[in-house]
Amino acid sequence: MKLPDLREKINSIAQYSRKLEPEAETRQQWLAAAGGYAEAFFAGFEKRPVFTGSKGKPEQWNDFIQDHPLPMAETLDFIRNEIDAHGLDPASEGHLGYIPGGGVYPSAIGDFIAAIANRYAGIYFASPGAVRLENRLLEWMAQLIGYPATAAGSLASGGSIATLTAIVTAREAHQLRCADIPKAVVYCTAQVHHAVNKALRIAGLAEAKLHEVPVDERFRMQPEALQLLLNKDRKAGLRPFLLVASVGTTDTGAVDPLKELGEIAQKEGLWYHIDGAYGGFFVLSDLVKEHFEGIELSDSLVIDPHKGLFLPYGTGAVLVKNGALLQQSHFYQANYMQDTLRATEEWSPADLSPELSKHFRGLRMWLPLRLFGLNSFKHALNEKILLARYFHQFLKESTGFEVGPEPDLSVVLFRYCPEDGQDIDAFNLQLVKKIQEGGKVFLSSTTVDGKVYLRLAVLSFRTHLETIDRCLEELHHQVDLLLTH
Ligand SMILES: *Cc1c(COP(=O)(O)O)cnc(C)c1O
Repeated sequence: MKLPDLREKINSIAQYSRKLEPEAETRQQWLAAAGGYAEAFFAGFEKRPVFTGSKGKPEQWNDFIQDHPLPMAETLDFIRNEIDAHGLDPASEGHLGYIPGGGVYPSAIGDFIAAIANRYAGIYFASPGAVRLENRLLEWMAQLIGYPATAAGSLASGGSIATLTAIVTAREAHQLRCADIPKAVVYCTAQVHHAVNKALRIAGLAEAKLHEVPVDERFRMQPEALQLLLNKDRKAGLRPFLLVASVGTTDTGAVDPLKELGEIAQKEGLWYHIDGAYGGFFVLSDLVKEHFEGIELSDSLVIDPHKGLFLPYGTGAVLVKNGALLQQSHFYQANYMQDTLRATEEWSPADLSPELSKHFRGLRMWLPLRLFGLNSFKHALNEKILLARYFHQFLKESTGFEVGPEPDLSVVLFRYCPEDGQDIDAFNLQLVKKIQEGGKVFLSSTTVDGKVYLRLAVLSFRTHLETIDRCLEELHHQVDLLLTH
């Protein structure tokens, strides 16, 4: 094709491709419509169930993408009816199951601005500002837990990827090679989050030995039991490698004795990893200071802003005390990136995680901290702790309920024990099902030591005393219904 013809052809296509750049008026209409959607969503909390078993209408999805443009209004209706109306509503104050967070509003604006400017947050050379913001946020978290200035970290999509990053760093720091793996031993409790088991497998450590350390009556790892296991394993010629403790397990909210475990880890030369995906941000609270003693002894830590800082899903963080080890295990040099080596004042996120091009997560985390101020977060976290204590005490004083230990943080374990000799597990499974189907609050159940328990997990910033009162009322109501039917 001759050049003029090629030019004409390109230009004739551009009239269509330019449609990807809407006019200012269209942009403003779309944004207003999305804002309207958000307001209607917030206004509808009271009318919507926290959970519904309905799954939507799959037949509505047949033409969900078409060759021609479809209107925004219709699209928002689709989101409302086919996505946001089904299953669990994690934004609701009544979400008291699993581990909530909520989704603070400024994060949505942070995501919006990040997407508009599309800053390249993977490499310092490309966006010094974006990378600096993320590094300052990581430093802030590192300081909260008492890591020295040598620490580095990465804002990941969530706790699971953050955990994987930590486990890979541990593996490389201990220079585990294929032949070493069958003799390597990982220590954790039965309460460890499955994200750890998953990370071990993905990191090629499936053949390492996983030794479960017994817990005490509060589900906390027993340091003496760990020491006994270590002695035994060394005698057997094994290679103790990694200790995983939790600051807040998902199931029971227990905090392991971080200091004692850290001292053992140091003495034994273990990599000490702490899973604070759920509980890490309670470090901001002044009510549970004692649980955080010794957290700085860890080599790596996972902490989830999309839980304890109430961000919408999509942000976890990993911190490594010796940042150089994180870098050595994740750094890679590609020829086509050689220009980027000129800027070295800051770590580049791409050198500290499996990701290269990545979502600029810093803005969604920074905007809420900036616009609300830290104090609001501290008060909110204190409130969650007190709400859990209130719920625990209330049930302890209610007939028929058996409660787990006084909550270390904001998870309460409990169950109802009917007097008439009914199967307790079956009763509680029925109870949680009825509560979920009732849609007033959402609780989840778990099995601990072979027994079924219900869990209350308070971590939505929207959950206040009236929510917990409603939960207690609903519990008693559903128990009464089950007992009389
Ligand atoms: C939620 C959670 C994880 C996993 O984190 P994601 O952000 O869901 O990937 C790991 N550990 C604990 C204790 C958690 O609560």
